[in-house]
Amino acid sequence: MLNKTATVIGSGFGGISAALRLKNLGYDVTIYEKLDQLGGRARVFKKDGYTFDAGPTVITAPFLFDELFELFKKKREDYVKFRLLNPWYSFYFQDGNYFNYGGSISDTEKEISKFDKKDVEGYRKLVKMSQKIFDVGFNKLSHVPFDNFFFMIKQIPTLIRLKSYLTVYQLVSRYIKNQQIRQALSIQPLLLGGNPLDTTSIYNLIHFLERKWGVFYAMGGTGAIINAFKKLMKEEKIRVNLNSEVSQILVENKKAVGIKLKNNKNIHSDLVISNGDPAFVYSNMIEDKNLKRWKKSKVKKLDFSMGLFVIYFGTKKKYNNIAHHTIWMGKRFEGLLNDIFKRKILAKDFSLYLHRPTASDPSMAPKSCDCFYVLSPVPNLISNINWREISKEYMNAIFLALEKTILPDLRKNLTTYFFMNPEDFKNDYLSMNGSGFSISPIFQQSAWFRFNNKSENIKNLYFVGAGTHPGAGVPGVMSSAKVLENILKN
Ligand SMILES: Cc1cc2nc3c(=O)[nH]c(=O)nc-3n(C[C@H](O)[C@H](O)[C@H](O)COP(=O)(O)OP(=O)(O)OC[C@H]3O[C@@H](n4cnc5c(N)ncnc54)[C@H](O)[C@@H]3O)c2cc1C
Repeated sequence: MLNKTATVIGSGFGGISAALRLKNLGYDVTIYEKLDQLGGRARVFKKDGYTFDAGPTVITAPFLFDELFELFKKKREDYVKFRLLNPWYSFYFQDGNYFNYGGSISDTEKEISKFDKKDVEGYRKLVKMSQKIFDVGFNKLSHVPFDNFFFMIKQIPTLIRLKSYLTVYQLVSRYIKNQQIRQALSIQPLLLGGNPLDTTSIYNLIHFLERKWGVFYAMGGTGAIINAFKKLMKEEKIRVNLNSEVSQILVENKKAVGIKLKNNKNIHSDLVISNGDPAFVYSNMIEDKNLKRWKKSKVKKLDFSMGLFVIYFGTKKKYNNIAHHTIWMGKRFEGLLNDIFKRKILAKDFSLYLHRPTASDPSMAPKSCDCFYVLSPVPNLISNINWREISKEYMNAIFLALEKTILPDLRKNLTTYFFMNPEDFKNDYLSMNGSGFSISPIFQQSAWFRFNNKSENIKNLYFVGAGTHPGAGVPGVMSSAKVLENILKN
C-alpha cells in the first residue's frame, strides 16, 4: 500500500478502469458518481421486463477488459462471458440491398463483390493501410501520455506518412469506388462522435482493430460488464458512492486536494481523477483563478461531437431477420452529415443505428419478444433545436421509417418505449452542449491538442474518459486509464 488516497469523479468505463488501475498501484480509491448506478453512458434501463443497455453495445479489443481482471490475478471469463458476433454489422440501404460486414476477410470480400467486384482489391489495400495506422495509432500511441508538446511534434513525420491529414472518408475513397460500400466503410467515426468528412484518418485504425479481435457482445448486455467490474471493485475494496454529484475540485496552492460534493461536503484526497466531461469540468468545477490552458472562453470555442437521439423500445413479436447491429443508411450521406455537424439543423431524414441484443441473447426481453434501441445522430445543443417540442414527432418519424422498411407493423407491436435526447445527455451526464462523446475527434483536437490526461498547471489532478487522449469509445476511454497509469508510474 502507498498510504495515498485517490478520488475518482464519475464511473464510466474510463473512471472504473482508472479506479482499478490506481488500486493496483496501491492507492486507496473512492468513486463518486452522480447517477444512481455505475457505468455512465453504459448504464442500464430496465422496463417492463426488457433490459436496455443505454449506450455502448459494440464491444471490441477484449484484451482491455481482460487486463483489468488480470491485474488482480483474476479471469474476466469468470465474471462475464463475451460472444463473437457475425456479421459485425449489417448495413441496410434504401434500395433494399444489405451489406453484411464482418467474419473473415474473404466473407467481407464476397459481400463487397456483390456491389462491385473491382472494390475487392481496394478493400484488401484498405485493410493493409488500416493495419499500418493501427500499429502506430493504437499499438504505439493510445496508451502513452501526450502531455509534452515536443513528443507530439516528434510524431508528425509518422502521422504524415500515414496520411493522417486526410479524413476518414477521403482515405476510404482512395481505395473504394462503390458509393454504398464507401459510405459503409466510412461511418466508424460516428461511433465516436465524429463526422467521417472531418475526422482524421487515424480513426481508420478501427477497421483493423475490428479485424484483429472481432466484434463482441457481452452476454447479459454491456451492463453485465459493468456488473462484473462492480463485483471486482467490491472484492478489491474500492469504495463506490452513487447519487453523489461533485460540484467542485478543490485546489490549494496549484494542487488538487480533494472535491466538494453538491451537498457541500468536502472530501480530501492525494489525487483527483475526473471522468466527467473535461469541457464541463474546466468550465464549471474549477475556480477561474486556477485555470490556465483551458479557460472557459477557449473551451467554448472547441468543436463538440454530435448529439444523439436514442429510442429504447420493446416489441411483442420477434423480428428474426434483423441482425444484432444494423446500420440503416438513409438516402443522403454528405448532405445529412453537413446538416448534423455544420448547419446544425434537424433534417427530416436520418441514418440510424439499430441495436437488437435479443438476436444474441433472449434474456434481454420477455419470452418471444424483442428488445431494441435505435440511435439517430443529431446536432448537439449548439443548434437551437427545441427538443421538448420536437422529440415525440422525431421519434414517430423514426418508427414510421423503420416500419416501412425493415420492421413491418412496428407500431402495432410496440410494448414499451422511451427516448433520450441531447438535453438528457446534458442533464444526466453533465455533457457540455449535450454532446454524445465530448469534443469531436478532429486532428486539431487529438493527442496533445485534446484535454491532457494530466492537468497542465494543477498538480495531482488527472483526467480520463472520452474528452481526453486517446478519445471516445470504450477502447479509447479504457486506454485513457492506461495513460494515467503510465503517468503515475513514471
Ligand atoms: C448511445 C451511445 C452508443 C455508443 N455506442 C458505442 C459502442 O457501441 N462502442 C463503443 O466503444 N463506444 C460507444 N459509445 C461511446 C462510449 O459509450 C463512450 O465514449 C464511453 O462509454 C464514455 O466513457 P467515459 O469513461 O468517458 O464516461 P461516461 O460514460 O461519460 O461516464 C461519466 C460518468 O461521470 C459522471 N459524472 C460526470 N460529472 C460528474 C460529477 N460532477 N460528479 C459525479 N459524477 C459525474 C456521469 O454521471 C457519468 O456517469 C456510445 C455512446 C453512446 C452515448
